[in-house]
Amino acid sequence: METETNNIHRLSGQVALVTGAARGIGKATAEALALAGADVAINYQSSREASESLARDLGSRGVRTVVVQGDVADADQVKTMVGVAEEALGPITILVNNAGITRDGLAMRMSVEDFDEVIATSLRGAFLCSKAVARGMMKARGGAIINVSSVIGRRGNAGQANYAAAKAGLIGFTKSLARELGPRGVRVNAVAPGYVVTDMTAELPENMKEQILKSTPLGRLASPEEIASVIAFLASPAAAYITGAVIPVDGGLGI
Ligand code: NAP
Repeated sequence: METETNNIHRLSGQVALVTGAARGIGKATAEALALAGADVAINYQSSREASESLARDLGSRGVRTVVVQGDVADADQVKTMVGVAEEALGPITILVNNAGITRDGLAMRMSVEDFDEVIATSLRGAFLCSKAVARGMMKARGGAIINVSSVIGRRGNAGQANYAAAKAGLIGFTKSLARELGPRGVRVNAVAPGYVVTDMTAELPENMKEQILKSTPLGRLASPEEIASVIAFLASPAAAYITGAVIPVDGGLGI
């Protein structure tokens, strides 16, 4: 029984591309997928050293990796990035659209640039990366795309109209793509994390942290690994009949 359970979580023979994989949730995801047996393409935008160090670390554990620089919001860079990854590791069978940024501020004071940049990274980035790998997945009649949304996309948040719109957009994108690609055997899902201990949340003011902890039934923030394990599950054969789902991984914050 134990062997069966292990097998359905196995990802050997799979090739994963994780965007924004140098740190935070992306790094934990690259590690979780590698631990399950996948080869991993590590995308970064600016964290070159951290990406190379992750690749060395995974390489020393026998994982095939490639590091690919590229801005997910730029169509040409995404094409190049996917080309380099596939040349090194073979056709991508798992895509994790993790790259994301925040540019917080009240909507009435938010600049158009701050609005556009957040949407471009999270939403256009996921669209471009998915488009770049979907043809191969459809031909192979299999594959998994996992989008990293947020509890904020489900509930909204004062001061994060751009981020909430991007993350809510990702949910609509996930469900639409799941409908389009399902008949070709490609599954598309999303996770909606609550607050996770990463660089993104490092600067939250103390009073906001307290408020979040009060509203979270589990009474603590998540570790990146707790999000990564759900992403790895969604990528695995254990989730073979799940598509178009948005899985909250938020300690109950979004109830
Ligand atoms: P993080 O530590 O700030 O990392 C963000 C990652 O995104 C970095 O690796 C960064 O790459 C990459 N990135 C940003 N813009 C990019 C671009 N244009 N092209 C390629 N990569 C880009 O954040 P995190 O907390 O791990 O967040 C990861 C994802 O989870 C994001 O989508 C975030 O919205 C979502 N999320 C986070 C939380 C949370 O509480 N932390 C909660 C819900 C959802 P470089 O370092 O190379 O620039």
